[in-house]
Amino acid sequence: MRAFGYTVAGDPAEAVRAAANTPGSAYVAGGTDLLNLMRDGAQTHDHLVDVNRLGLGGIAVDPRRLRIGGAARMRQVAEHPGVRREFPVLAQALLASASPQVRNMASIGGNLLQRTRCGYFRDSAAPCNKRTPGSGCPAITGQNRGHAILGGSDHCIATHPSDLAVALTALDATVHLLGPAGERAVPITDLYLLPGSTPDRETAMRPGELITGVDVPRTALAAESRYLKLRDRATFEFAVVSVAAALRTKGRVVRDVRLAFGGVGTRPWRDTRVEAALRGRPLTGQAIAEAGRLLVRDARAYEGNGFKVELVQRALASILGELGGLR
Ligand code: SF4
Repeated sequence: MRAFGYTVAGDPAEAVRAAANTPGSAYVAGGTDLLNLMRDGAQTHDHLVDVNRLGLGGIAVDPRRLRIGGAARMRQVAEHPGVRREFPVLAQALLASASPQVRNMASIGGNLLQRTRCGYFRDSAAPCNKRTPGSGCPAITGQNRGHAILGGSDHCIATHPSDLAVALTALDATVHLLGPAGERAVPITDLYLLPGSTPDRETAMRPGELITGVDVPRTALAAESRYLKLRDRATFEFAVVSVAAALRTKGRVVRDVRLAFGGVGTRPWRDTRVEAALRGRPLTGQAIAEAGRLLVRDARAYEGNGFKVELVQRALASILGELGGLR
């Protein structure tokens, strides 16, 4: 690994200044993804700013919202009693992620900004438009079993790997940022960009911005939420397909529903047309099947990942059936 400088910042403003003053900086908390990327040569930085001592490790539930600090650890959030009770989809998504060792180390900010698991991206000898713009996308005609069927382009079809981001997308979370120009808040649905012709631009974050926290609205719907993750083995594996769902019914009729999907999109995938198709209707097998077909209406499958078109519809039916008491 290439040598790099290291600064331990004492508060958020100092961290942002330290990053702004040294070109090629990145923030590091647990380092569980970043250091692997640097070791593999998929990402290079001349300077890291340690954000573990900024006072951003808190987790608080009040009557209106959940606030998670950007440096809170995955395990802490997953085990927090208020999160487990009021936002079960978040706890379930976190516990379905990584390994206990990684969950002890990895921060929430780092989890949201982890990079794709596309093997070509992580192999610095392979071409990859995301790592080296203009070099090509070998995944389109190569190994693409784990790749996206929704939101891809001719330049990139990589999925975003974070389970937590999928759950936060379903719950309309807001991400708080601090950068050289000050603070701002971005809905998580606007944080991740589609690849288009610039897959190297993954988020709406500006240079030097740091994730200071995440807010999640506290609603009755959030308390009725679940995460379903389908993967090749039961632990330490990324989603082939996942669904975060929150559902409230009155009798059999859907009063409200939120859905987000992992493993199928180039970003945590939310399609409000699917939710609108279910809202106000009796929750029946036919209604769920129609919603599933709507979800994959614009899907584009490749040689290795066509099975996801069917699998994501089955996953949707499974989780809605469970939440709606159909089975
Ligand atoms: Fe690179 Fe994206 Fe293509 Fe993977 S899918 S090789 S990340 S451009």
